[in-house]
Amino acid sequence: MIDTHAHIDAEQFDDDRAEMLERAWTAGVEAIVIPSIAPSGFDKLQSIVESDKRIYRGIGIHPHNANEATDVLLERVEKESKLERVVAIGEIGLDYYYDFAPKDLQKDVFRKQLNIAKRQELPVIIHNRDSDEDVLAILEDEQDGNLKFVLHCFSSSIDILNRALTLGAHISFTGNITYKNSTLAEVIARTPIERIMIETDSPYMTPVPNRGKRNEPSFVGLVAQKIAEIHSTPIDKVLSMTSITASKFFRLTLGIVLASIFSLSISGTALSQTSRDNRDNENEEEEMETEPVNPYARTFGFGLIMGTNTIVESIECLETGKRESRSYEGLLLYGLSLEYCLIDHLQFEASYIYSVNNKVVTDKIWPTPNVHQFVSLAARFVANPRKPVCFFATGGSSIILNRIFDQNTVQNSFNFGIGLYGNINTGFGLIVPIAELKFDFPFTSTQDPQEIKCGNSPADIGRFYSLVKFGVQWYPKF
Ligand SMILES: [Zn+2]
Ligand SMILES: [Zn+2]
Repeated sequence: MIDTHAHIDAEQFDDDRAEMLERAWTAGVEAIVIPSIAPSGFDKLQSIVESDKRIYRGIGIHPHNANEATDVLLERVEKESKLERVVAIGEIGLDYYYDFAPKDLQKDVFRKQLNIAKRQELPVIIHNRDSDEDVLAILEDEQDGNLKFVLHCFSSSIDILNRALTLGAHISFTGNITYKNSTLAEVIARTPIERIMIETDSPYMTPVPNRGKRNEPSFVGLVAQKIAEIHSTPIDKVLSMTSITASKFFRLTLGIVLASIFSLSISGTALSQTSRDNRDNENEEEEMETEPVNPYARTFGFGLIMGTNTIVESIECLETGKRESRSYEGLLLYGLSLEYCLIDHLQFEASYIYSVNNKVVTDKIWPTPNVHQFVSLAARFVANPRKPVCFFATGGSSIILNRIFDQNTVQNSFNFGIGLYGNINTGFGLIVPIAELKFDFPFTSTQDPQEIKCGNSPADIGRFYSLVKFGVQWYPKF
């Protein structure tokens, strides 16, 4: 197990830090991450981290200390974030409960540090107290696909949980979930186990039955125990899963990950033994690289389509060889689509579009309207799928069912186009407004049955369709 958030640099541990750490290792703790708080404590923290290979750290300025966050100090955060055992930016965030610094300043310092994390490709440990809305708004704004973060000591509502999960958040729980008056059971139950990490937040938040005492990392198993109860999962599995998640999240060494995967099939006692054996080699092991979560990940979606269809016809009189062309602009079209996303960059769309050409009636070419129905299959190649606005190229083929001059014809065609769409994450899934310009070229021409343009001689009509489509798609959550 990994205590992903313990302030063991606090003065409460100055007298017995070595003994306290020994108890943690004996209890099966494989690694501890110490977040930083005040710049004045950076050096002490670093010396503790250097004392044991199982201890890692975050670097950042806590919202309590936002008043101290000068440009010089923020530069120091960025510079020292490159130190070997720094695995995160944090803890940073907002705290409106204590309100030690003005809100606007807190927000500014939070944002600046989120951008340090993005530049340095480090995950972020986020502190949030009584500031749900502002924390989420900033994260929603800053999430461009490159932000990997954990909401530590999560104590907010299910609604906030859902918004955070949509943004790719990891959720870390601490001792307060074991308290009798805790209201977090439902929240824990709704958090996917693979997004959960455990922490003590030592020396505070001591879990039951040690509540009232100083908290320390050896107690972190009690938090896992509570999660196991709520998820009706064996404790060994929660310990292994949270260890794997934390190792990947903080890019700790492969040794811990391997030990944890291995331990899924063996007992909890063996877990601590195996990982202790692996631990000595951990510096030689390669780091686990993990792909950040796409904030706009999608699978199946449904779409509504509206737009305009412009038909360009070239008419060839078969006897005289005379050619001319005409077009019908701005015909209304509407339809439905089904979307499937294979990988971030590749989506498929099956669509049905219905378009009526009334202009043949108003132009007095023919007494009844022409009807064109497009049944299409297309692939969409997305250039930048992790951004709020994405650009794509599309191509595919269609079957076009026509009723032209009261004759039914079926044509095969190929289509291609370009477009863009926006991604809006909501509580009920991803909403995607989309605009697309597409051309559809049938392989074959149709015969004009009534010699409309060529006196008494038959005519061949070649067509292409230029479709301007606007739509909205909905990718529900699964
Ligand atoms: Zn905190
Ligand atoms: Zn903390």
